[in-house]
Amino acid sequence: MTFWVYILKCSDGSYYTGHTDALDSRIAEHEQGAIPSRHTYARRPVNLVYSQEFVTREEALSAERQIKGWRREKKEALIEGRFDSLPALARTAAVRPSTSSGRTVPEIGFSKEDECYMRRALELAAHARDAHEEVPVGAVLVRDGIVIGEGWNRSISDHDASAHAEIVTLRDAGRREQNYRHPGSTLYVTLEPCVMCAGALVHARVARVVIAADDPKTGAAGSVFDTLISPLHNHRVAAERGLLADESAQLLRDFFRQRR
Ligand SMILES: [Zn+2]
Repeated sequence: MTFWVYILKCSDGSYYTGHTDALDSRIAEHEQGAIPSRHTYARRPVNLVYSQEFVTREEALSAERQIKGWRREKKEALIEGRFDSLPALARTAAVRPSTSSGRTVPEIGFSKEDECYMRRALELAAHARDAHEEVPVGAVLVRDGIVIGEGWNRSISDHDASAHAEIVTLRDAGRREQNYRHPGSTLYVTLEPCVMCAGALVHARVARVVIAADDPKTGAAGSVFDTLISPLHNHRVAAERGLLADESAQLLRDFFRQRR
């Protein structure tokens, strides 16, 4: 079997490093926007600039970790084939500059439907604030164009530390669907999920999460933790960030300003 480490150039000029055992289908997944990504929309990976074959997964993972730790100049040296300035990794056997270098992954935006569901999630967030004086976070779970769950943050009113909008929504969907798993579904949430919620989304087999505002303090979709896309889980959740981010951030800012 062959394992690949690859580098994609993102739309903002930064680099995304990943690994896979099937390079072509992985690139196709990037094209569909299906790759779990710690990138905000603006940083979407768009251009395959490097790939390298390894015989074992361990070698590939080790190379990926090394490259991820490199500064930009070093990554560029690798991409341009200036291996002499690099540590042993890049000079080991099987170093092969990409044969498919220069492939372009088209940029994909959020759809009208995405925006519509996120607006609903923002309504639920405002409801949390207005009706319950809760931190305004809302979520909607959708599958095949049908809303199967809704929720808003209700930790204070329920005396329940686990009653974040995402968990409340999964419970609602579980009751409606009579199932604890929701494969093929998309969760729209107004704030980046925390570790607890990201874990629950993995357990629930949610396929995709669309996030409005980032949470730079506790976010687990790439801001602080990478729970949604951890390779240690046997299911990964695709994350796309930044849809109606300003609206959500404003809602949260206003809420905390008023409480002070
Ligand atoms: Zn949470």
